[in-house]
Amino acid sequence: MSNIAEQILNSCLNIAHHMLPHTCVLCGAYASTQPLCTNCSADLPLSPTAACPVCALSALDGKVCGACLKEPPAFDLTLAAFSYGFPIDRLLHAFKYAGDLSLVGILAEPLARLAAEQPKPDLLLPMPLHPVRLRERGFNQSLEIAKPISRWLDIPLSTDACQRMRDTPTQAGLKWRERRRNVRGAFACDLDLNGKKVAVLDDVMTTGATLNEISRILKSRGASEVSAWVIARTPAESPRR
Ligand SMILES: [Zn+2]
Ligand SMILES: [Zn+2]
Repeated sequence: MSNIAEQILNSCLNIAHHMLPHTCVLCGAYASTQPLCTNCSADLPLSPTAACPVCALSALDGKVCGACLKEPPAFDLTLAAFSYGFPIDRLLHAFKYAGDLSLVGILAEPLARLAAEQPKPDLLLPMPLHPVRLRERGFNQSLEIAKPISRWLDIPLSTDACQRMRDTPTQAGLKWRERRRNVRGAFACDLDLNGKKVAVLDDVMTTGATLNEISRILKSRGASEVSAWVIARTPAESPRR
């Protein structure tokens, strides 16, 4: 679809979305003009407040956790708005696979709020999607979330600096080290990032292997700092061992 056609379609969807009273996507209750009712919005699982600043997993004192001290990932910081679990998993699924773009605001806003408290990066980079996946899905979920955040926080958005070269097979069931090996060489990046602070935006961080790999590439292109900004972080199931 051309850009203009896409813009027209999006504004029509937006208008329809704001005019029609509708039901909460989670519980079916009346939700006025929002995708979620007030009860469901209040119940969303926020990420732990005492978390390791590097990997965002819960850490008693909010200090860098043992795993990150022992084997620091290539990213320096992780911001996670939610803990991955019900009902965030449903929302992300509806957004990603059913293409319900009305959920972008709900997913992006809490992350933007966290990010606004941090020093501003020079560049916001949505996690690139492999062209085959992009064709299948029709949109890159990370880019859709990154767009409003880039606008709200006034951070330049990079849409084509990095490419996904390999469509990595599913990572479920693989150990951290195997996942790391699995994503090696998955990205190419031709941007000169000398001294730049980059934030990479992804929908979900599971072990962090993919974010680690893209951060490694960004650092090799000169990035001085890479932060991972994710909508949801899978809670620890000893992922780094
Ligand atoms: Zn509800
Ligand atoms: Zn950590």
